[in-house]
Amino acid sequence: MSSTPVIRKALGSVNITFLGTASAQPSSTRNQSALALKLGGDVWLFDCGEATQHQLQKSSVKMGKIEKIFITHTHGDHIFGVIPLLASLLNGAGGAADGAEDPRLNVESNITPPLEIYGPLGTRAYIRNGLKYSHSLLASPYVVHELRFPEDPQDGDFTALSLPPFEVAGRNIPQTGGKWVDIYKDDIVSVSAAPILHSVPCVGYIVQESPIPGKINPALYKPALQRTNTPMSVMRQLQLGQSITLSDGTVLEGPPKRKGRKIVILGDTYDPSPTASLAQDADLLVHEATNAHLPGVDPNTKESDTYQIVEERAKSRGHSTPQMAGQFAKRIGARQLILNHFSARYPGDSSAESTAIMQAIGSLAAQEFGKDVLCATDLMSVDISSSEK
Ligand SMILES: [Zn+2]
Ligand SMILES: [Zn+2]
Repeated sequence: MSSTPVIRKALGSVNITFLGTASAQPSSTRNQSALALKLGGDVWLFDCGEATQHQLQKSSVKMGKIEKIFITHTHGDHIFGVIPLLASLLNGAGGAADGAEDPRLNVESNITPPLEIYGPLGTRAYIRNGLKYSHSLLASPYVVHELRFPEDPQDGDFTALSLPPFEVAGRNIPQTGGKWVDIYKDDIVSVSAAPILHSVPCVGYIVQESPIPGKINPALYKPALQRTNTPMSVMRQLQLGQSITLSDGTVLEGPPKRKGRKIVILGDTYDPSPTASLAQDADLLVHEATNAHLPGVDPNTKESDTYQIVEERAKSRGHSTPQMAGQFAKRIGARQLILNHFSARYPGDSSAESTAIMQAIGSLAAQEFGKDVLCATDLMSVDISSSEK
């Protein structure tokens, strides 16, 4: 399915770094939405709010390693940072004297694989128009693949601007069976998506690692290989979990493969149910928790508010409470839940009051989930281990 098949090495470590954990407005402690998923040496970005570049510079994530960007929805707090990021990543040395042709207009997209961007309808138009009207020229190419909802136009770029030389024509991916399966796939990892309910079209992404080869014990195989004069190099095939038939008819089976990791990254939502089947048994679920009811903990709690009122208000704005996030994590049998996208009311600084508020938000989700829950802070980094050793 991918327009740029890559040979990816086995992932080894997988790590997630929260670059921005604010809802809507950034503050001195929380930036707008973005998170970086480190897959071995590659970086995939999920959402790219304003000033994501600054956050990347403060983090251990290497900007030059960004290979793909996944946008959950085109609300500004999730996309405002894309154009400056592209300008930095792909701009190259450039500029031309008046009348001379800018060398960046001759992008050889067949030489450099394009930076891949995925998002709902409007992602391509936003980027193309933003680059055009900010007079930005890129020296390396990008491509936008759009996830089209059934009610969207299924074809076309959704903008009157023609393709610039540094943009590669992308796919418009139709929904099948209510989801977008394998929008990207290579031998090691695949990505699917499904709609999640918000005030505008929004998607959740499911990143699935392929089964991981088990650990091989060469001593188990050596006698049979020696007896049949089979080269030891077949150990490589066994390591990959394949079976080998020896000259005397003996069949050697490689060690059983372990389950690959599943990481579910949702955008803004008041109900992510359409992702439930794809998200089942996630090793990590990242779910928003914009609003909470915290009487006795949050001094700004309105006297007249009840949990029901806060939940209804959150839903009416397209968002979730910690309890709703915890319930969904439980429903899909997630191993770990991390909350993000917090209202500006919860700055998440190190003061005693903020610490108590974030702890209370985490425990409201934990009560529903039945396991401990982490509340993300900007630049927080978490390793995602495999459930099977
Ligand atoms: Zn948002
Ligand atoms: Zn939103």
